[in-house]
Amino acid sequence: MAFGIKKSFFGRLQEKIEDVIFMRPEIDEDMLDELEEVLITSDIGMETTMKITAQLREDIKKMNIRDPEGVKARIKAIVKELIDKGEEHMLSQESPLVILVIGVNGGGKTTSIAKIANQCKKEGKSVLLAAADTFRAAAGEQLEVWGNRIGVNVIRHQEGADPSAVIFDAIQAAKARKTDVLICDTAGRLQTKKNLMTELEKMNKIIEREYPDAYRETLLVLDAATGKNAVSQAKEFGEITEITGIVLTKLDGTAKGGIVITISDEFQMPVKFIGVGEGMDDLKVFDPAEFAEAIFE
Ligand code: GDP
Repeated sequence: MAFGIKKSFFGRLQEKIEDVIFMRPEIDEDMLDELEEVLITSDIGMETTMKITAQLREDIKKMNIRDPEGVKARIKAIVKELIDKGEEHMLSQESPLVILVIGVNGGGKTTSIAKIANQCKKEGKSVLLAAADTFRAAAGEQLEVWGNRIGVNVIRHQEGADPSAVIFDAIQAAKARKTDVLICDTAGRLQTKKNLMTELEKMNKIIEREYPDAYRETLLVLDAATGKNAVSQAKEFGEITEITGIVLTKLDGTAKGGIVITISDEFQMPVKFIGVGEGMDDLKVFDPAEFAEAIFE
C-alpha cells in the first residue's frame, strides 16, 4: 500500500466515491451530482470539485465510458493531473539547500522542521537549523530541544533579535561547515501581515546575497485538520511571499484527505510533504502519482 496509512483517511474518500459510482444504476447526471457532494464533503473545495466533475462529464461522453470501473479510472487520472506538477522533489536537489519554513503557530511548523531535518540526516546529509522565530522565546527553545534530540545544531539569538541576523549567522555557519541543508524557522504572524512581509523579504534578500549558489525553497506548513482555514491561510501567505511548496500536517487526525487535492489545484503550490503523526518518522515525502493511486486503487 503506497502510503501505509490509506485506511485511516484516504480510504474513507475512496469508499465514498465507490459507493456512488458502483451503487448507482446508471452513469448519468444524478451520479455526477452525488459525486460532487461526496467530493465537497471530503474537503475538496467547490472550485476543484467542479473542475473534476466537469472534466469527468466531458470524458464520459467523449470516451463513451459505460462502466463504473471506467469512471473510477477517469477520476483517478483527472485527480492525478490536478495534483501532479511534474516537479522534482527538493530532497533530490543538489546541496546546498536552504529551506524557509513559514506558517501560523500551532500548525506543526517546529515538528515538521525537525521531521525534515531527521529525514535529511537519515539520507546522510548534514543539517543546520536556524531559529529565526525570535518573536516567541518558546519557539527557539522548542527548536533546540528537537535539535538535541535528532543531533542537529541550532543557530539561535536572544528573544526579540532581528530574525535576519539569525539567518545571516546561520548562513555563515552553514558555509563554513559545508552544511547540505539549512532549515529556517520563522515567526508566522499572519495578524501583522505587513511586518511579516517585510521580515520575509529581508530574509530572502540576505539568503540571495550571502548564499547565491544555494537552492531555495519556501515551505508553508498547513494543518489539514483545519480544513477551509488551511485553504485561506494558503491564500493569505501566498499574497505575502512566494511559496514553493506545502507541508500538510495532521493528516492522521482527519478523514478529509481531499484537502491535498484542493491545495494543489487552487494555489498551484505543490504539496511536498505530509505529516501523519507526532513522531519523528511521521513525515512522508509527497508523491502525487502515488497519492492518486492510493486514494483510488
Ligand atoms: P508550531 O507552533 O507550528 O511550531 O507547531 P508544533 O510543531 O509545536 O506542533 C503543534 C502540535 O501539533 C504539537 O502537539 C505536535 O506534536 C502536533 N503535530 C505536528 N504535526 C503533526 C502531525 O502530522 N500529526 C499530528 N497528529 N500531530 C502533529
